[in-house]
Amino acid sequence: MDVRVRYAPSPTGLQHIGGVRTALFNYFFAKASGGKFILRVEDTDRERYSDESLEDLYSTLEWLGIKWDEGPVVGGPYGPYIQSERFDIYKKYAEQLVAEGKAYYCYCSPERLERVRKEQAESKSEYQGYDRHCANLTEAERAEYEAQGIKPVIRFRVPTEGKTTFHDILMGDITRRNRDISPDPILLKSDGFPTYHLANVVDDHLMHITHIMRAQEWIPSGPLHVLLYQAFGWDVPQYCHLPMVMGKDGQKLSKRHGSTAVRDFREKGYLPEAIMNYVTLVGWSLDGSTEFFSKEDLEKCFTLQGIHKAPAVFDYKKLDWFNGQYIRACDNDRLSSLITPYLQKAGYVHDPLTEDEKKLVSLIVPPVKERMKVLSDVVPLTAFLFEDKPVEDKSVYIAKGSDEESTHKALKAGSEILLSGLKGGEEEASIEEKLSALAGELGIKVNGVFQPIRVAITNSTVSLPLFDSIRLLGLDEAEKRLMRGLSLFEEN
Ligand code: GLU
Ligand code: ZN
Repeated sequence: MDVRVRYAPSPTGLQHIGGVRTALFNYFFAKASGGKFILRVEDTDRERYSDESLEDLYSTLEWLGIKWDEGPVVGGPYGPYIQSERFDIYKKYAEQLVAEGKAYYCYCSPERLERVRKEQAESKSEYQGYDRHCANLTEAERAEYEAQGIKPVIRFRVPTEGKTTFHDILMGDITRRNRDISPDPILLKSDGFPTYHLANVVDDHLMHITHIMRAQEWIPSGPLHVLLYQAFGWDVPQYCHLPMVMGKDGQKLSKRHGSTAVRDFREKGYLPEAIMNYVTLVGWSLDGSTEFFSKEDLEKCFTLQGIHKAPAVFDYKKLDWFNGQYIRACDNDRLSSLITPYLQKAGYVHDPLTEDEKKLVSLIVPPVKERMKVLSDVVPLTAFLFEDKPVEDKSVYIAKGSDEESTHKALKAGSEILLSGLKGGEEEASIEEKLSALAGELGIKVNGVFQPIRVAITNSTVSLPLFDSIRLLGLDEAEKRLMRGLSLFEEN
């Protein structure tokens, strides 16, 4: 059997971690089994639809390097792949079920349905939902409604007896009594719009989808979908509902835990390969130990067997770690072009870069590469090069375990060692040794010497390694800043 799977998002919001994980699992499963990955846009909910969401869908997949074999833009033999362009198809299939007695027209007004709902709630009736008022209308009754100009919806006739079972690759058999399935759901609305259930089932069939991999929250729709496949006389695709993505506290991942929109991660400076690698490991593993996978690896080795049954935890720290690893592995030229937009946005460099700025950026890359967790870290790490905001609060210069007097001495003697050493072409290691020795003489920790020097030069306690910072800044400017820092301690 040729595997055909789909990612079928509704463009009603930004692509989030959970959705992208579904896309990746489908994509890698398709690639690894020599099958096809189809993108289908389920945009039948026009109230929640937005152009921005649709653009975000395309740009997110493009950023990740996920190409679909069939779908919008690229087309394919079973298109169109955008549901709002397929309304005729849904209408035809809904009417087919009506003709076969498996669905029926319902003329109930919203007011009537609301009244029924209220009565059920008040009488605490066991029976909830549509009361099947129109399930057996006579031709005369129908004609009467039509004459009144009422536009009907089409409802699916859910059997009241028996059970429906569907098999899930991960969860096994899931069975539900038919009478527990919400009675007679709408397939086609009065304005001709299909509901999710109809469009989803019709399209999965017409697009020859073999495996449906989607979030577990769709499990409750499973039995109804199976009944629809049976009503049409179609084979039921294989189901594989994916475990939920949780935050560390065991609650469904949401904004409370941090960013969930992939666009936010992208803006902060996560690399696509880090997101792809880590998100694929949220609920999947190859052998329980391998952590690094390139896209090409996963296109070969992804299997359904590796999907975990238990809910998966999304760990922001672990993602940061992956991102740091990928930044370190990044080629310097690529990293230059990746950090440039952040420097431009901060107003540090021009867009496009001048020739001098190009050189500076390429000099910045090697030291920042070692320190960034996310690309946007380049801004605080290099701020001292582009804007001079001296620290005027003495306490920032004073390291833990040191005091004002020792800091003053450390800065004074330390600056001398540093400047004369660098001017005299002394080895960095030897200068460093002398600075450490100075700490010993003053009876403070090494950082008691380095911290005030670093704060004076870089205006910050977190920045690049000292000698790199001086090199990037220039010795004259470094000297000026050291003297300025020292003067802070020498006032009165
Ligand atoms: N449009 C649905 C969603 O947004 C698709 C569910 C499915 O894959 O069947 O999640
Ligand atoms: Zn009705």
